[in-house]
Amino acid sequence: MPVRLNVRPMSQPALFIWKVATDGLVFPVILLISMVTAFIIAMRYHHFLIGKGFVKQQGTCYLCSRPAPTEYVKFYQNIGLLWMRRYQIVEGRLCKQCINGNFWKMTLITFFLGWYGVISCILTPFYLLNNIVRFILTIGMKKK
Ligand SMILES: [Zn+2]
Repeated sequence: MPVRLNVRPMSQPALFIWKVATDGLVFPVILLISMVTAFIIAMRYHHFLIGKGFVKQQGTCYLCSRPAPTEYVKFYQNIGLLWMRRYQIVEGRLCKQCINGNFWKMTLITFFLGWYGVISCILTPFYLLNNIVRFILTIGMKKK
């Protein structure tokens, strides 16, 4: 059985809009507006994306101010002192050199001194895991 398509001719106003849209200025104008909007959004959220590491940027290191490829990292160091603890956080876009230095220093100090405390012995595994995962994610980074 043949399929019969019921094609209705476009109504007069629809035809008029379609005509204006296709050979008028509507499409270029819509294109322009959407490009400007996309540009504004990109500018507005650019730093957020860079800060979170979604956009790679040749920048300056947050710690040593050296111009080099940088990556967002957050390293924790914990020293357990039985009833209290001393902790330190390094956060920001760092170069590979600073990432290496801070990772080894903070992770080793946490590994050897982090456990001796009430809260410390709970937090230390998480701090170590965070440091190691963050460090692994930066392994492919170029030094310069
Ligand atoms: Zn650096």
